[in-house]
Amino acid sequence: MKNIVILGSTGSIGTSALDVIHRLGNQYQVLALSANNNTDLFLKQIHTFHPRFAAVLNPISYDKLKDQMPQGTRLLPPEIDSLMFIASLPSADLIVNGLVGAVGFRPLVAAIKAGKTIALANKEPMVMAGKTLMQECERWQAAILPVDSEPSAIFQCLSGLAGKNNYAKISDDISRIFLTASGGPFAKYEGPLDEVTPAQALNHPRWKMGKKITIDSSTLMNKGFEAIEIMNLFNVPEEKVQIVIHPQSIVHSAVEFNDGAILAQMGEPDMRVPIQYAITYPQRAISPVKKLDLFETAKLEFFKPDLERFVCLDLALAAARSGGITPAVLSAADEIAVQAFLDGKIKFTDISKLIYTTLRKVPSTGGIATINQALEADTWAREEASAILNEGTYKDAVL
Ligand code: MG
Repeated sequence: MKNIVILGSTGSIGTSALDVIHRLGNQYQVLALSANNNTDLFLKQIHTFHPRFAAVLNPISYDKLKDQMPQGTRLLPPEIDSLMFIASLPSADLIVNGLVGAVGFRPLVAAIKAGKTIALANKEPMVMAGKTLMQECERWQAAILPVDSEPSAIFQCLSGLAGKNNYAKISDDISRIFLTASGGPFAKYEGPLDEVTPAQALNHPRWKMGKKITIDSSTLMNKGFEAIEIMNLFNVPEEKVQIVIHPQSIVHSAVEFNDGAILAQMGEPDMRVPIQYAITYPQRAISPVKKLDLFETAKLEFFKPDLERFVCLDLALAAARSGGITPAVLSAADEIAVQAFLDGKIKFTDISKLIYTTLRKVPSTGGIATINQALEADTWAREEASAILNEGTYKDAVL
């Protein structure tokens, strides 16, 4: 019996994870769940899965839920410490981190320090301080299993090469990682990007996901984050990561080895496959996911990304080269910019301008950000990006 904790249980990762657990049956037990705003769904999940602990960060959600807990479930106070507590429960075997943004950073650190195995979909912490987090994993004997489809694909391609979390020498054996991207809703869009609306940007052609990651996919920032994530997770240098636009989303990523052999992980685009693999790892289990029909898969296309049109990807790769706190600033500024776009305060093309203007203010670069430096950089960058947003100075940025 495996005890599972899910952070972000009402989001797209959390609901898929619960769907997987439900189908896998009684080998898995839900020990704790966390959510934020969707109290109706959260309550349903609590009644279905009977977790011992439930946590919400939003105090309004807490007030709504506090008198509705069934017997056997304890609702924890609405604070980040509650997420850190459930992420490090001694009886937890697997922590599924499906949180969005930097809010998942401290719960992830708590899970690592408790030596847990973490199924990680929350990519921002791996962008903010991925190298340090991997060092901490080694120190505390924790393991990160990627959940996102492309990092999971790379993880699966590399599985013959290394033991859990021991990627120290992988870079010597591989010549390239092909990190694929659907390209988002604007991959083939020829109109002016500064006029696209949040509704258009939220209309992703392949994946149904939360708003933040969907906007990040439309700007290709999501692919930039994934590039940084896999560099940190698998200890590969930036020059070995080739981003490939692949609109069909059948090849979920591929690894080329020194002898020229390429292993690719393929399948219908369905998040339940990588989520289930992280839960059942190293075993595989039967899944209801539609199987790929090779005869129907008439054509697979691969393109180079257009870095001049999708500036966010260029900014992310530059931040990866700069190192230090720059990726943490990138991530925080992106959260502010994406929210401002969703709120109708800025244009689509202003997302990259706001991030760029914030990045220009980073005092120093280089080295590896510590946990505290990453958290401080996150706070600093949010304030800086918000000030730049209010002043409107991002409009002058020439990219
Ligand atoms: Mg992805």
